[in-house]
Amino acid sequence: MEYAFFEDQIVPVEEAKISIKTNSFHYGTCVFEGIRAYWNEEEGQLYILFAREHYQRMIDNCRAMFMELRYTVDDLINITKEILVKSQIREDVYIRPIAYFKDLALTPKLTGFTPTVAIYLYRFGRYLDTSKGARVKVSSWRRNDDNSIPSRWKVSGAYVNSALAKTEALLSGYDEAILLNQNGFVAEGSGENIFLVRNKKLITPSYSEHILEGITRAAVIKLAKNELMLEVEERPVARSELYVADEIFLTGTAAEITPVVEVDDRKINGGEVGPITRELQELYFNAVRGKIERYKGWLTPVYEK
Ligand code: PMP
Repeated sequence: MEYAFFEDQIVPVEEAKISIKTNSFHYGTCVFEGIRAYWNEEEGQLYILFAREHYQRMIDNCRAMFMELRYTVDDLINITKEILVKSQIREDVYIRPIAYFKDLALTPKLTGFTPTVAIYLYRFGRYLDTSKGARVKVSSWRRNDDNSIPSRWKVSGAYVNSALAKTEALLSGYDEAILLNQNGFVAEGSGENIFLVRNKKLITPSYSEHILEGITRAAVIKLAKNELMLEVEERPVARSELYVADEIFLTGTAAEITPVVEVDDRKINGGEVGPITRELQELYFNAVRGKIERYKGWLTPVYEK
């Protein structure tokens, strides 16, 4: 049986149901996270990747949204472990924590309400194909600005913007959308941060470019600097720079490291996955499964040994 955390208890997932009157359901005022846990077959161990970083980001975002959760980062990690153990998960799994106002009231506001947090599991498999590479399109939709709905926060209302861009890309025959910010510079994908490789240097939009502060983005920067001795530039990136990049890839918990092989019908690296992208993918996939000792600090083991 699969379990979820709902209204302060661990319950069978079928019992975790909200009312149609739930305030946050109407106004998109939920704060959520996406976390992956990876199964290591040889060790018979399930590892939660960056559990602390995800729950810290969630608690920080909740504070910004006037949601004082009753749980600390450690509490949320322990609850997640309990759900995974109780559900007997022995394969890769995606974890979705979501905080929301459970009040049955119709006012779009953030104060005077009761926040609650739910956590459930999802079988994603592959979000985007990380082996072949994606064909992407620069969206006609602009990324939501920090002064409208901050893209720095993982709030559900902001994902209307992602859904519009992703749908436009899919209906036009592409795999993913790249959104420009209100200033016309590259922000990110609908659910991923973006990296370019030029002259063996990594380039990625900085935090001031109206992007989510991606946890995978930070991990990739660390791997690039420490393992491949690459220089990393965080700065504004113009759309035209995408077309002349040697390699491009997207990063995210769900998307992992997804190579981009085409942007707006221009092939990148001749339409093949580039060598630096491949090296980073290999490092990342080994690290997240607990196969590189020095990155085991990224992981929280689920089963007691
Ligand atoms: N940007 C957006 C808009 C996202 O939804 C995500 C997924 N959380 C990311 C970037 C990547 O963030 P992370 O690496 O923390 O999953």
